[in-house]
Amino acid sequence: MAINAIKGMNDILPGDVETWQFLEQKVREVFGTYGFSEIRTPAVEKTELFCRSIGEKTDIVEKEMYTFADKSENSLTLRPEGTAPVMRSLIQNRLHTLDPVNKLYYMGPMFRYERPQKGRYRQFHQIGAEVLGVENPMIDAQLLAMLHQYFCEIGIDAVQLQVNSLGCPECRPAYRQTLIAYLDARLESLCADCRRRYQTNPLRVLDCKASGCKEATAAAPSVLDHLCGGCEEHFTAVKKYLKVLDIPFEINARMVRGLDYYVRTTFELVTDQLGSQNAVAAGGRYDGLVESLGGPALPGIGFAIGVERLVLMKGAAKVQAARPDIFLAAMGEGAAEQAFVLMSELQRAGIRAEIDYQGKSLKSQMRRANKLAARYALVLGERELETGTADLKDMDQGSQQGVALDELVGLMGQLRSSA
Ligand code: ATP
Ligand code: MG
Repeated sequence: MAINAIKGMNDILPGDVETWQFLEQKVREVFGTYGFSEIRTPAVEKTELFCRSIGEKTDIVEKEMYTFADKSENSLTLRPEGTAPVMRSLIQNRLHTLDPVNKLYYMGPMFRYERPQKGRYRQFHQIGAEVLGVENPMIDAQLLAMLHQYFCEIGIDAVQLQVNSLGCPECRPAYRQTLIAYLDARLESLCADCRRRYQTNPLRVLDCKASGCKEATAAAPSVLDHLCGGCEEHFTAVKKYLKVLDIPFEINARMVRGLDYYVRTTFELVTDQLGSQNAVAAGGRYDGLVESLGGPALPGIGFAIGVERLVLMKGAAKVQAARPDIFLAAMGEGAAEQAFVLMSELQRAGIRAEIDYQGKSLKSQMRRANKLAARYALVLGERELETGTADLKDMDQGSQQGVALDELVGLMGQLRSSA
């Protein structure tokens, strides 16, 4: 019996991986322009890190974590998200003492025990960015401008930016109470899940897809009418700066996030291309998080993009694997060896060269050159070895030109740079 991968965990194969590499390359370019540096943290952390940051009563911590005991009975968890590990690292490595402002990005696999379906997997990948140490609402707008630019550069425009403010520890408790009282009077319309959680997590009810819950909360009090002075001012400024920067957005006062640490600005990039998995990216402010993890009182804001969902979207640049520059076909043993040496010289000069290793007929070698979509092909036989020259065939144009074998590397270099 062959062994298969774990359900909900996917291989990324040649042919697809080029698109992933392109998306990652664009992250380096665009995020780099905005002054972000990459940070890489381990895939596994102490379970406590996620319980304390994401929140015990969230779906992620209650149901979705891959938690296990190692051989010393330590409780470890495969990271379900990237923000908490980055904060742990910032505190542990005292990055804030080197620079009061830290702009960091990460890319990598995350793990959640969810029901696998289109756009929802058990190992998935996120591209995330975090800014630590800036309270100014300008950074909220700038982070969203960066996200917007990234999506433009990878060719995806079918997304809508929705923003909200979730208030802060000063104003949210009163809003929660108001919302609980409102829900209390409508319990019979709520789904079983929401009836269970409306006391502990009333905001989640606003986000519930069940039709009864949607109807019951249609006229629910809005968080935006309950912001304290500071949050109101912050949100007004964020909206102003988004307009100044020409970033299209909509207010969605019903947006809630599945992690407890968010305060003030929250946002999602949503699309109608992915069925119920409609969020491609999401994030927000988490001003108290670093302090709650034992670090300094640093404000923070960040987002995470779901890479699998990006790849599924129309318009996401489909990137082709690089074509070989040249295929060297050989007839006879001497020619095969010569082709092998030439290939190596070409590769050392940075030219993508291929040969046949199986001693196949010339016809089948040329078939392979076509299959690989080699740009040029060169046939080496006894005559070519004797004269030291050969015909270089342009596989796109169908034309030929003679070339001295000892000038092949130079010529290929020229052809490549003029292409
Ligand atoms: P959803 O509501 O779809 O479950 P979420 O709120 O749990 O998303 P976040 O924790 O905010 O998602 O993660 C940010 C992004 O990561 C999401 O917008 C999504 O694109 C992606 N993502 C989250 N969970 C998964 C998953 N299981 N498989 C694939 N992508 C995911
Ligand atoms: Mg989720």
